[in-house]
Amino acid sequence: MDPLPLAQALIRCPSVTPADAGALGVLAEALEALGFKITRLQFGSPPDGPVENLFATIGSGAPHFAFAGHSDVVPEGQGWSVDPYAATVGNGLLVGRGAADMKGALAAMVSAAQAHVARNAPGRLSFIITGDEEGPATFGTDRILDWMAENNHVPDMCLVGEPTSVRKLGDCIKIGRRGSLNAWITVNGAQGHVAYPDRADNPVRRLIPALAELQARVLDAGTDWFSRSNLEIVDLYVGNPATNVIPAQAKARLNIRFNDSHSGAELAGWIEEVVSRHAPSSDVKIRISGEAFLTEPGALSALVAEAVTAETGVQPELSTSGGTSDARFIRRMCPVVEFGLPGQSMHKVDEHASVDDIRALARIYDRVLRLALR
Ligand SMILES: [Zn+2]
Repeated sequence: MDPLPLAQALIRCPSVTPADAGALGVLAEALEALGFKITRLQFGSPPDGPVENLFATIGSGAPHFAFAGHSDVVPEGQGWSVDPYAATVGNGLLVGRGAADMKGALAAMVSAAQAHVARNAPGRLSFIITGDEEGPATFGTDRILDWMAENNHVPDMCLVGEPTSVRKLGDCIKIGRRGSLNAWITVNGAQGHVAYPDRADNPVRRLIPALAELQARVLDAGTDWFSRSNLEIVDLYVGNPATNVIPAQAKARLNIRFNDSHSGAELAGWIEEVVSRHAPSSDVKIRISGEAFLTEPGALSALVAEAVTAETGVQPELSTSGGTSDARFIRRMCPVVEFGLPGQSMHKVDEHASVDDIRALARIYDRVLRLALR
């Protein structure tokens, strides 16, 4: 099955998070025609919901392989050379919002599923598709996984179709991602005249050594699959316009990108301890946007790499770079890797994917299924 018409039909649904605009219906119809059992899952309430999600499955027993992805897209923004929802094809490129991230990949998955069904292959194949990956993701994949666990749908392995390729299709498979933590630090003091420091308490004097200690720590030396964790102070604010006033408050903000030798909670505890030791009168707010995770290179990554090389001749790099994705939820369920189209144009104007790449991706996914389900 040529994945191009389905990719176009999906792009023609302007499913900007949290709108579905018919996208999951298009997908459900294509999968239903192949014999999949479809479950539409609606979670949440305003303002972050309700969110439309879809679970589809065919076959039974083991192994159970799952494709995962999202049908939502980021807003189109200004300055497109074509209608972002017309799914224009020209010069070998499919142009439209979601072409790369990740409606092209969804179509390639369905194409691979069609070949799988036609083969009468053993095992079970499922689709885990959310309408909220680009948004808060509160009522998306995380909630589908809860539902899957409650209903005995936990797969043995999962491939997420995010656009992981960098320069050409096949050059990069993601086997994990770093975690991310943001901290907002506010140190309170007592305002006063600079000439009478004993009658004031300068918060800057407390904030600076706290930040110096945080920044001086070597968090780790990196691991086999991750670069070293890094703490970056990204903002400092006092906002004192006077030369003769000791300010009452000083603030800082920092971000840590951390590998799997740390947890968000451990780093949060460390930051709180250091800041409160230097500045007992302080307030620290911490948000962990994702924990680090790694699917150790093994059966699943080897299988995907083998399929990539067989179809493209490219030896993929196994990488843990980049931001977070829904794989951060799936990792608690089963081994997960991410592989998809080149992503240079994702979230940009004139987002596009090469038609040849979408077709080659369908062949790669097909080969993945042939290796996984036999
Ligand atoms: Zn995406």
